[in-house]
Amino acid sequence: MAVLDAIDTLAPIREKVEAGERLDFEDGLTLIECDDLLALGELADLARRVRGGGDEVYFVQNLYLNQTNVCRVKCKFCAFARTRKQEGAYTLSADELVEEAVAQYERSRFTEIHCVNGENPHVDLEFYAEVLRKLRSALPDVHLKFYTASEIHHMSKLEGCTHEEVLRVLKDAGLGSLPGGGAEIFSERVRRLIAPGKEHPDEWFHVHDTAHRLGIPTHCTMLYGHVETYEERIDHLLRLREQQDASGGFLAFIPLAFHPENTVFERRGFTFTTGADDLKMIAVSRLMLDNIPHIKAYWIMMGLPMAQIALHFGADDVQGTVVREEIFQAAGATSGTEQKIPELVRTIREAGRIPVQRDTLYNELRRW
Ligand code: SF4
Repeated sequence: MAVLDAIDTLAPIREKVEAGERLDFEDGLTLIECDDLLALGELADLARRVRGGGDEVYFVQNLYLNQTNVCRVKCKFCAFARTRKQEGAYTLSADELVEEAVAQYERSRFTEIHCVNGENPHVDLEFYAEVLRKLRSALPDVHLKFYTASEIHHMSKLEGCTHEEVLRVLKDAGLGSLPGGGAEIFSERVRRLIAPGKEHPDEWFHVHDTAHRLGIPTHCTMLYGHVETYEERIDHLLRLREQQDASGGFLAFIPLAFHPENTVFERRGFTFTTGADDLKMIAVSRLMLDNIPHIKAYWIMMGLPMAQIALHFGADDVQGTVVREEIFQAAGATSGTEQKIPELVRTIREAGRIPVQRDTLYNELRRW
């Protein structure tokens, strides 16, 4: 699309953004079909500022842990999961996980542990609750951001109880918030193709809705760049926006690009998303999700240089120091697994923004 055409096409959307009006499905399609990246970035940054955003860019000091990679689901995009007898399968006891977390804490004084796992059919709810209790006792100041909605649903099946009962048990054990994984793409057509063993999207929403009602904040994601259409991406964003209207507990949205390495899609010739697609998704997410406070440019997935550019496309968070990420590394991410605070600060500053270290709930801990 020529630049002048793009400006014309985007003009009615710009008017809506300036007036604080909500964008609709057709607006979303117009945005995602637009190839004038700079115009999209400028519009998304405008939307961010119109809704009260400033120059602050946030990050958290965090540790990533996985307690088990044993999983019954077999999503086709996943390079992380194993069956129990497969080489490389592991299931750590609560004591092993706590020991590792405490050792890492001595080195990096993180304020958050982010933990997601395979849906292991050989454990029970106590397996999940025990590790929270022991971590809360060993590291009382650390926020425990544990278990995707898919895992919560899995626990409710293991235990024969409701999502609410599972969440109450975990909250009592020390759960602070839920990460946003398991959303993939809500379209049933796509889920049948890429994750036929996964729960219905209604279950994902029910877990988040219940968590929000119980006072547990959560995050939300979208996995894009595989077999989904643009329409299905916009539909996904609108469903999240609707949920946020209803329950209001999403802290941030994280668009996740599909990484095909070591998955069935690599054999079929799928490749990584391009930088243009990644920036476009950041911008479109910021524009469409007018009620979710933060959009994250997840540097582990997109690389730090691209995350830096994304700060001018509507993102206001680069996630964090991320010690020990395994899931994107298994699928071919090449951006390392750890970033030191000085490097994050330099990256944000050189993008013309103000680095702010936050806790999980976006309370400011330090500003540069
Ligand atoms: S994405 Fe999660 S649920 Fe799917 S196979 Fe991998 S670990 Fe299992």
